[in-house]
Amino acid sequence: MFKASYHNHSLYSDGKNTIREMIEEAVRTGFSDFAITDHAYHLQGTGWALEFGAYEPYFAELASLKEEYSGAINFIAGIEAEWFYGKGTEETRLEYVREHVEFTVGSVHYAIGLDGERYIIDGTPEEFLVGLGQGFDGDLRALVGNYYDSYVEMALNLNADLIAHPDIILKNAHGLFASTENWHLDHMQRAVKAIKQAAKPTEVNMGGNYRYKNGVIYPCEAILEMIMAENVPLTVGLDAHSVDMVNSYYEESLGYLYSRGVRSLVKYSENGDWIDTDIAEWMA
Ligand SMILES: [Zn+2]
Ligand SMILES: [Zn+2]
Repeated sequence: MFKASYHNHSLYSDGKNTIREMIEEAVRTGFSDFAITDHAYHLQGTGWALEFGAYEPYFAELASLKEEYSGAINFIAGIEAEWFYGKGTEETRLEYVREHVEFTVGSVHYAIGLDGERYIIDGTPEEFLVGLGQGFDGDLRALVGNYYDSYVEMALNLNADLIAHPDIILKNAHGLFASTENWHLDHMQRAVKAIKQAAKPTEVNMGGNYRYKNGVIYPCEAILEMIMAENVPLTVGLDAHSVDMVNSYYEESLGYLYSRGVRSLVKYSENGDWIDTDIAEWMA
């Protein structure tokens, strides 16, 4: 039996529980590997990412809890790094952060508008529509294309250990077009090729479904088929933001993957490599 989630949050960013509470719940529900990957600070300031001044206590707490729980769980100290199209990570002090964490999740949560401003794409539906109107003059395909441009850049350049939620744009955009429209399939194919080139896994992420009850699972079926066709490694990142998310949709995530033909998942090893395992080991 093996159980893992390599993408989770705490009160240090937009989670609802302390790191200790999250680990306690992971131990209680039988996880083998569990990472905390709070949102990296960035200059714009968000109210949901780490404050720069919170980094030192964050790093210290990660290290001390890793030590304290070492007999109970393989706790992984991480960060969810942000990538901005054309600007990369220069506003996030990522090199400094990486000196203190062992694991990086690579993500894109913004599109850069025609006006050069950044607009969050996985915030509220209202925020998404503001970005679409103000940043892209209502041109949905331009917004979605910009998101995938940024995602490809991130996958190829961020050097993340786990490349998160490739189709998170669907969280707010799924009602505005079908993910299987050809123009969108082309974007998803670009994203999958970039992940493959980076030679790192991506995740099945049930967080959106839990938090917004919108039935959206990343990766969606169309992109999951591409991931499998390209032999891109897959793992589980629940994107848990509270203790009640730690063990929810876990079996559903695995069942979804199995039902679509996924037969192997990767687990993280201490030396930073990913090890191929039979999905049956996770479902036991
Ligand atoms: Zn994310
Ligand atoms: Zn996250």
